[in-house]
Amino acid sequence: MNNRLYGNLIFELSKEGRRGYSLPQNKYAHKLSELPASVCRQEQPQLPECDEMTVVRHYTNLSQNNFGVDNGFYPLGSCTMKYNPKINEEVAALPAFQNLHPLQPDHTVEGARAAMLWLENSLCELTGLAHFTFKPYAGAHGELTGLMVIDNYHRSRGDEKRKKVIVPDSAHGTNPASAAVCGLDIIEVKSQTNGQVDLADLKRLVELEGPNIAAMMMTNPNTLGLFECQIPEIAKLIHDCGGLMYYDGANLNPMLGVCRPGDMGFDVMHINLHKTFSTPHGGGGPGSGPVGVREGLQEFFPMVSPYHGNFAVMLRALAYIATLGRDHVKEVGPLATLNANYIKESLKDVYELPIDGLCCHEFVFDGLKDKSTGVTTMDVAKRLLDYGYHAPTIYFPLLFHESLMIEPTENESRDTIDGFIAVMRQIAEEAKNDPDLVKTAPHNTPIGRVDDVLAAKHPIVTFRQMQAE
Ligand SMILES: *Cc1c(COP(=O)(O)O)cnc(C)c1O
Repeated sequence: MNNRLYGNLIFELSKEGRRGYSLPQNKYAHKLSELPASVCRQEQPQLPECDEMTVVRHYTNLSQNNFGVDNGFYPLGSCTMKYNPKINEEVAALPAFQNLHPLQPDHTVEGARAAMLWLENSLCELTGLAHFTFKPYAGAHGELTGLMVIDNYHRSRGDEKRKKVIVPDSAHGTNPASAAVCGLDIIEVKSQTNGQVDLADLKRLVELEGPNIAAMMMTNPNTLGLFECQIPEIAKLIHDCGGLMYYDGANLNPMLGVCRPGDMGFDVMHINLHKTFSTPHGGGGPGSGPVGVREGLQEFFPMVSPYHGNFAVMLRALAYIATLGRDHVKEVGPLATLNANYIKESLKDVYELPIDGLCCHEFVFDGLKDKSTGVTTMDVAKRLLDYGYHAPTIYFPLLFHESLMIEPTENESRDTIDGFIAVMRQIAEEAKNDPDLVKTAPHNTPIGRVDDVLAAKHPIVTFRQMQAE
């Protein structure tokens, strides 16, 4: 292992007595004896002891082993990893915002409330819905909140039987998971070979289950990056049988300023502010999944978090929306769509395109076209790392064996995209001429292929001092 690049744990760099910083005198030291012994440590915590340069270099080197949108192209499908303007960070870090406490008296937080209202009004205008709650901390949390709204609505009418949620087989995994967490049962509706919801199958389900249907959850563009053209018919079917329409708006890019879920017949939706409206995320946070509802449903918002949600993410989203303004927000969708289609068309002679035609902000290849080389989607993804690109989403959606889901986002230049296309073609070429090179990739990264199941099955999340000794 290359220590300079990969680094030891900071604990392993510790030397007894080393110092990089002196804490100021504790003004309250004399009060410590007033604390009950039961809440006090019996011995000193074992903290690392390092000099300043060691600490600075350790964390700087670690940060450079991380891949982010700021150091390379990141075409991760279904996740919208895009440009995070630095001005958003400045806005979120303004001391007047950063030092707020959620329990401050109302009259001292008028500015924060105005910012939230401004964001709520912007989201209402962009989605065609009437009210938003900002309490959910992420997309999946938003789905749960939205389904709780729907569940509360049915129960308020004494309609207790409605416990089934229809979800397309192409749906993001969080959709069925959220329904299950909300105590609802999932019914899957099939997709047609063109990737859109199979209307005949939906009619069959509605006839069979009508009075039990609480809602239908949909993503549009769906998880294959395809625009569902039959939303009005679908919404009518569901509304006629008494259900509500839920819209998974995690990735709203292609819709922005072009069309609105509220106008299509959706009643409840969530938005991932951290995807569509640019907060650096990944590795679990930070996120914000506000839920919007049509007029009349706001009284069913549940309490899903204390206080007001992830305020700093909301500020970044507001800065992003305000920077674009009404006119430029309309360019997001068409540009994201153009970029995705350009990549798709430039690569479909060497990568398998299972569903041809126009896509929206993302699309799915089913691995390399030439299957005889034995080079898999995993191998292509790993080889991309060697060339300095983050891999696309792989093996999702589950509809194809070798899914490779690409989303370039609207912010990337023609040059960046051409560079990516050239590398993808190069890898297809390598797969033909030197398949082992691709199968054993990555070769240039700090560590090679990792066992990506091991860390999930046997996570080691605490450091034990003994291991260092
Ligand atoms: C990312 C995503 C989610 C989940 O959002 P999280 O913030 O990761 O919980 C839900 N649906 C779709 C379509 C997504 O892309």
